[in-house]
Amino acid sequence: MKSKTTKQTFLWEEMTWPEIEAYLKIVDTVILPCGAIEQHGPHLPVDVDYFDAKYMATKVAEACADPKPLVLPPIPYGVSYHHDEFKGTLSVTNDALSRFVYDIGMSLAKNGIKKIIMLNGHGDNAPTLTYAAQMINRDAGIFVCVDTGESSDVDLFDLIDTPNDIHAGEIETSTSLAIRPDMVQMDKAINETLEFGSKFLDYDNVRSVNWYVKTHKISESGVIGDATKATAEKGEKMWELMIHHMVHLVESIKNTPLDELYQKSY
Ligand SMILES: [Zn+2]
Repeated sequence: MKSKTTKQTFLWEEMTWPEIEAYLKIVDTVILPCGAIEQHGPHLPVDVDYFDAKYMATKVAEACADPKPLVLPPIPYGVSYHHDEFKGTLSVTNDALSRFVYDIGMSLAKNGIKKIIMLNGHGDNAPTLTYAAQMINRDAGIFVCVDTGESSDVDLFDLIDTPNDIHAGEIETSTSLAIRPDMVQMDKAINETLEFGSKFLDYDNVRSVNWYVKTHKISESGVIGDATKATAEKGEKMWELMIHHMVHLVESIKNTPLDELYQKSY
């Protein structure tokens, strides 16, 4: 256990400006964790996407080789209007989030950062973060990517039994049980598994399209999936996989010169 006064050398918020200036001479890569504050069923707290993005960014940086990527303070709020009918959900608009992330990206570029990896803990932030990433890339000429689980989802879905387990179900309840079981009320865990008539709507189908729905129209509890199948053991495997693949992603970006990432350097 680290003592409370030990600071992590790669956490942007804990460094002084001369420390950051010195670090920027050896590292040009940051991880930006993006979360949400929104309902996660009757058994999980509303901060799951925020907490998990922050936790994973720190674990990934810890597991990376030296010099480690810098980790930014996480963005707590996201695009969650589709959960508005459930209390506790706090949502910002797509416009506000994209503008905010764009401003952070441009400010990072001014600091000398050349590569931004957005670690997105909330699926419905994805279009907005991707838009911001495009605009930062257009205007700053630096590398920006968004990972909403793409680097590990294919392996993660092999670990579970539930179809369309996309919100507060087997996956998110297991990952919470693994790292903070005291926040999970398993006696209130619910199974609200969805099956769609059309394969084009089925989230698990490789041919499904991007479509949008207000959560209360498809789920009474706010859960989409089966939280009752969650275990801490499954959650531990999931974290191991997610961190493993994200470390590979971050290392490959960090160790590749900007020119080879198809960006102009200046
Ligand atoms: Zn979530």
